[in-house]
Amino acid sequence: MRKCLKITGVVVVALLLFLAFPLVFPTPLFAHSVTLGSLSVFSDEALPKKEARLFLQQVQKRLDQSPVRFPGQHMQIYVANTKWRRTWLWLAVPKGNGGFVVAPLTRWHTFLSGADFKDGVLIGPTGYRPNAPRTLVYYGAHELTHTTMSKKIGWLQFQLMPEWIREGVPDYVALPHESTNALYEKIGEGDADLAMMKAHGVYAPYRLLVSYFLDEKGWSIERLMASNLTLSQARTIVFKALRPRSL
Ligand SMILES: [Zn+2]
Repeated sequence: MRKCLKITGVVVVALLLFLAFPLVFPTPLFAHSVTLGSLSVFSDEALPKKEARLFLQQVQKRLDQSPVRFPGQHMQIYVANTKWRRTWLWLAVPKGNGGFVVAPLTRWHTFLSGADFKDGVLIGPTGYRPNAPRTLVYYGAHELTHTTMSKKIGWLQFQLMPEWIREGVPDYVALPHESTNALYEKIGEGDADLAMMKAHGVYAPYRLLVSYFLDEKGWSIERLMASNLTLSQARTIVFKALRPRSL
């Protein structure tokens, strides 16, 4: 019985290591890289240098405008084009994810499922190519904002925060900035349907709420990330403030 438990323990530990190791130390799996300032992109396929640099420059620009940033901190984006790498790396996350972080295992890095640097487009795990505004730059900035959020607040708090904040802040950073009122006019008060997702990102209704609290109410990012307002509480506050008076 004791021996059986010991073997089970060894197998469980081995499985956890198999799962976690490439997430924590992915570099040996990616032979190609380009670095610009404090950002690097790694790939399992040759990188077009000029386009990869432009990609990094544009991701950095969006991160520089983020309310949650770590200037000078080196961060990495790993692009896993080949299926076996993706199968291995994606064991802990939904298979359809175009990118992910798993705090705290992904320390200062993120993974993307594939990339066409020349067209600036993400290649999803099933081969889909999202349209603008969800460009490759968007995915890089969105995922790395998850990283900075988890570093700022702590990974456990990051996992526990309301989804509208956890996903709304990265879209607020990664998509071109718009005023809260302009967003409200475009997005309105409904849930995200396919047309809205394509035009304004998957988390458009969350981005509107985040935009209101940061830009209109002047909340600090710390205050927003510490908030436990539910989605429906946040919506009530925001819609009441933004709704035209005649309604
Ligand atoms: Zn996300």
